[in-house]
Amino acid sequence: MSKSIVFLIIFSTIISFFLKDNEKIENKENQYSNIDKNYLLGKVKAHEDTMFLKIPQKLCLKRTEYIHKDVLPHYLKMYQEAEKQGINLKIVSAFRSFDSQKWIWNNKFYESQNKIDVILKILKYSAMPGSSRHHWGTDIDLLSTQLSYFETNEGIKAYNWLCENANNFGFYQVYTNKPYIGYYEEKWHWTYLPVAKFYLEEYKKQISYEDIKDFQGSEFAKELNIFEKYVFGIDSLLFK
Ligand SMILES: [Zn+2]
Repeated sequence: MSKSIVFLIIFSTIISFFLKDNEKIENKENQYSNIDKNYLLGKVKAHEDTMFLKIPQKLCLKRTEYIHKDVLPHYLKMYQEAEKQGINLKIVSAFRSFDSQKWIWNNKFYESQNKIDVILKILKYSAMPGSSRHHWGTDIDLLSTQLSYFETNEGIKAYNWLCENANNFGFYQVYTNKPYIGYYEEKWHWTYLPVAKFYLEEYKKQISYEDIKDFQGSEFAKELNIFEKYVFGIDSLLFK
C-alpha cells in the first residue's frame, strides 16, 4: 500500500471520528431543546420516565433519589474522586417533582395578613413549585441542607473540596448569592451545567407566569418577579 493511501485512511478515520462525536453532541442538544413543557415544570414521573435513573442507595443520605441519566455518570466520577480524599458526597435530594415541591411549599406556607412576607420567607431557601431546578434532575443537594453543617470541620473540608474540584466534573454551585438577589446562599445545591444550561434556555422560551399555579400564594409569582429574581438569579458563572 502506498504511503498516500495509508495517510488517506488514517486521515478519513480521524475525520469520521470527529464527525460522529459532533453528531452525538448535536443529538443531545436536540434532545434537551425539544423537551416538553411539563418536564420543565416537574410534571413527570421519574420512575416511569427514561430521562431519569435511580441513584444507588448507598450514595443517598435518606431515601433513594432519581437523577437525570446524563448527570449520574459525572456525579459518580466526582463522588469517587472525593472519596479518595475522605469526603463522602452523599445526595440529600436530586429530582423533585412539582407535587413534592408543592408539598414542601404548602407545608411552609401559613395564612397571614401579609402573604407577600410569608412567601418571601419561604423563598429564602425554597422554590415555588414549577420554578425549581430540581424538577430537571440536573441539580443535587449534597451533604446536608443545614447551614450549621457547613460550619463543622467536616462541612468546611467538603465544601472547600467542592469549590476547588466540582467545576472539573461539570458541577457548579447555583445559589452563591452573587449578585445578591433571589435565594440565600446554598452551599449544598450544585448543578450539572452542561445539561442544565439547555433546560434554563428552554425554561425562558416556554414557561410563563400562567404556568406557575396550583399552590398557596401562586397568584403573587408575577408581582414578586419569580423568574427574574429566582430562576435567573443564579451565579453569573452559570451564564458563561
Ligand atoms: Zn437544592
